[in-house]
Amino acid sequence: MTQLTIVNPATGQTLTTLDCDNADSLAFKAAAARRAQAGWAATPLSERQAVLQRFRALLLERKPELARLLSQEVGKPIAQAHQELKGFLGRFDFLMQRAEPVLADQLVYEEAGLQEIIRQEPLGVIANISAWNYPWLVGCNVFVPALLAGNAVLYKPSELASLTGLAMVELFQLAGLPADLFVSVIGAGDVGQALLEQDIDGVFFTGSWATGQRIAAAMAERLIPVQLELGGKDPVYVCEDVDIAATAAALADGAFYNNGQSCCAVERIYVHHSIYDAFVQALVGVVQGFKQGDPLDPETYLGALTRGEAQSALLQAQIKDALAQGARLECGGHQADGPGHFFAPTVLSQVKHSMRLMREESFGPIIGVQAVADDAEAVQLMNDTEYGLTAAVYTPDQQRAEVLLRQLNTGSAYWNCCDRISPRLPWSGRQHSGLGLTLSDVGLLAFAQPRAWHLKSAG
Ligand code: NAD
Repeated sequence: MTQLTIVNPATGQTLTTLDCDNADSLAFKAAAARRAQAGWAATPLSERQAVLQRFRALLLERKPELARLLSQEVGKPIAQAHQELKGFLGRFDFLMQRAEPVLADQLVYEEAGLQEIIRQEPLGVIANISAWNYPWLVGCNVFVPALLAGNAVLYKPSELASLTGLAMVELFQLAGLPADLFVSVIGAGDVGQALLEQDIDGVFFTGSWATGQRIAAAMAERLIPVQLELGGKDPVYVCEDVDIAATAAALADGAFYNNGQSCCAVERIYVHHSIYDAFVQALVGVVQGFKQGDPLDPETYLGALTRGEAQSALLQAQIKDALAQGARLECGGHQADGPGHFFAPTVLSQVKHSMRLMREESFGPIIGVQAVADDAEAVQLMNDTEYGLTAAVYTPDQQRAEVLLRQLNTGSAYWNCCDRISPRLPWSGRQHSGLGLTLSDVGLLAFAQPRAWHLKSAG
């Protein structure tokens, strides 16, 4: 049996090894999930919610140990691990509150002897293939509404967040969720690929564009729903009328929180030329103040690079390419000390769009800052990307911001904020950033299929 070695990226130490799934174990789990799903679909929503509520209570009880596990497994600062669990609860509560009204039958027409009703029915057994950077948050977007809507979930955590995935399964079991309804699938990409070959009714994926594209191609002939929440190269435009210090602090956090390993992290900053030098100076000042080190230290802001050597190599290649094309290294630019994988927070100025730094997702503690002549150039550069997750404009002038944001092809538009997700709003990417959406009332409906009921009384 293939084994998965779980390594703490902050220490390089092996935490444990896990047995990976294979085609046989997956077929067994998928068949069991299908049997369990029939009973779950027939269970009233209020009873499903009661089980999920117990899951929430157990999570709260175990929050400190779950945060610690997450921190050790992915190298996330412990304060941010707690923040993630808090964010999970906020999303969870919203989805629980909205399930009843959103999933309720809708009587859309009635006349003597005839009723027309839209009824939301579960998809069946869904595969949830997930990412490691926010396993609780991106998991919540999928498995909570999926279970509420009456589905079974084959949950494949990232190979870099498998212990957290197993902890979720344990909590559901303790909460009394029927056996086989929320099942872990352990392994790397090959196991994810094998999961796609099972008897499933939908695929909900969070991860990179490259994998998302592979999954879409693999599923093309199956004619089942495929949703893809993918990467980004999210831009921000800083107008000349901002409070420079406050904006620099906000964007430093937007770019470096979670070590820049957020799908909606700020990845490109464009600044009006008239405040460019002052802005760069303020940004570098904030970034140099970030505390990097032991993720279990409550004061740490920058933890370890979860993907370790591979991510470090990508960041170094982007920096080398930028410097060769005339960028200026303002701070960082190298691996930081440590037994594990740490990367010094890096700011590059004088950058341009021929550089990999401004085109490829970096997914690390690094940011490029480019000067622009005016609003038109900002819009042109912000749209010069294959991605389309989020975009932000900083200015006190709402009308100016909305005019600019309307011209950008992204799933989310931010005025004076960034790196932000609300459970009340749809979360979606355009172009290479994804297909379909989660969160909000619309995201709940992604896990149901509306069925048309034509009900005519006899005679
Ligand atoms: P990844 O694409 O490397 O892996 C994601 C998952 O896919 C993992 O579970 C992996 O084992 C699995 N996988 C890999 N190859 C597969 C295949 N051929 N078939 C089926 N499954 C396969 O991504 P990652 O490194 O885990 O996550 C980082 C990426 O995720 C970044 O690009 C980030 O922007 C993106 N992301 C997007 C969102 C969003 O909401 N849009 C949220 C979080 C992360």
